[in-house]
Parts: sequence; C-alpha cells; structure tokens
Amino acid sequence: MKILIAADMEGVTGVVHWDHVTPGHEEYPRFRRLMTGDVNAAIRGAFEAGADEVIVTDGHDAGRNILIEELDPRARLNAGTPAPLAMVQGVDSGVSGVIFVGYHARIGTPDAILDHTWSSTRVANLWLNGQPTGEIGLNAAVCGHFDVPVIMISGDQSACAEAAELLSSIETAAVKHAVGRMAAECLPPEVTHAAIYSAAAQAVSCLRAEDAPSPFRPQTPISIAIEFTHSEMADGATVLPGAHRPEGKRVELTADDMPTAYRLFQAAVALAE
Ligand SMILES: [Zn+2]
Repeated sequence: MKILIAADMEGVTGVVHWDHVTPGHEEYPRFRRLMTGDVNAAIRGAFEAGADEVIVTDGHDAGRNILIEELDPRARLNAGTPAPLAMVQGVDSGVSGVIFVGYHARIGTPDAILDHTWSSTRVANLWLNGQPTGEIGLNAAVCGHFDVPVIMISGDQSACAEAAELLSSIETAAVKHAVGRMAAECLPPEVTHAAIYSAAAQAVSCLRAEDAPSPFRPQTPISIAIEFTHSEMADGATVLPGAHRPEGKRVELTADDMPTAYRLFQAAVALAE
C-alpha cells in the first residue's frame, strides 16, 4: 500500500502569518523545520498502520520547503515546481490514499489562518461546478480522477471542517484554533505531532479495512469559474483558448476531466499578472 502525503505550509503547527511561510523571511527557516516535523508525524503514522511506501509532495510556493535532511528516511520527496500534477504530484503512481498535511481553508473563510485559494493576491473566489472550492476541493478532485481518496487532513479547525464537509469521514488533526486570519491558539509540536501521527495511523487502518472515504469525483465535464481581484488579471486569463468572460473580473473555463481543469486553472492564474 502506497500513501501520498501532500504537504502545504499555511496549516502547519504554529504558522499564523505570511512571514512564517515566505522564503527569504528571517522567520521562515523555523517553520520549514516545523513543516518537516508535521510531515514526519504523518509518515510515522502511515507506516505504523501498515503502509508499504510513502511519498511526500512539497506543495507550498516553489516546492522547496521541506528539509530533506530531516525527513524520515523511509519516505521519498517530490520537490520543486512546476510538476505535472502540482500539489498532488505522484497521485497517479499507484497511490491508495492521500494525506493532506498543513492545508488551509478556502478564500473567504472566517477564522481561518491565511485563508486563500492558490494565490492570495490574484484569486478572489473560485467555483468548481458552481460550488465555492478551495485547494482542499481542487486537489481532492484531482486525486478523485485517479480513483484515490483523501483520507486525512491536518491544519487549523476551519481547514479540518471544510475537508470534513466535502469528504465526509476523513480523519482530521487540528493543530491550531484560528480566531482570525492571522491569529490562533496554537498547540505545540509535541502535541500536534502526536495528533497527526494518530490521525494518519487511523486513516491508513481504515483504508486497509476498506472503510475509507470515497474518492471525490465531481461530475464531468468540469467547469471552473475564477473571480480575480482586478479586471486586468481577468484580461490576462482570457488569453487562454476557450476562456469565457461573463463579467469584468470573472473568467470561466471548461474541461473534459479534472487534471485538464487543474492545468487550465493554473495557467489562468499564471496569466493573470
Ligand atoms: Zn501554501
């Protein structure tokens, strides 16, 4: 049984500010270590529950955050960008279940640390088949295309609640309780690592017992609607063939399957400079 741990950084233990997750900032090195610690706790849990193989994908910023020298030596690390499947790179390599570590709630969620959807400066809102969707839903849908369920998430209480609403019986480990976008009551690593370990072990045990959540598979064709922060960003995204522009800041895209929709979405955000 092969498990993919898809890691982001905003939902990592102790993170409450962009300075914590921005390469080059003096506080960033501490949080790289904390991110690696959260990931290691999930790796330990997965192996403890009987996983044969664990791959980790570093999905934050340019994918160069996890400290490989501190990574559990049983795992392998997908690092760097761009990779074909971005934040869930490797999910098409015979993976049985995916664990989200350090994830965050979608843009516009109250009491959610650093809530955003892909780009905090460009994306004001995102809808997948008409439903407001964040990175949890977007990445879970890409996993679903490959028939792989997301079985566990760690992050703040709002990220956990968003995942539980979308993916029903997913295991959750809340590492902090947000009381705003940049304020939270945070649990220390000793406590969060124990919680992440237990949730990962429980999730993999359920997967082995064929009692895991179903893969998240939105109906095809997939429609993606993006509301940009400013209309010139939509001007840029409208360069994409097939893009529809129903109003000033809104661009709509359609694709036959989720991986194509995911790539179109990334291209639209990249063009929206
Ligand atoms: Zn991130």
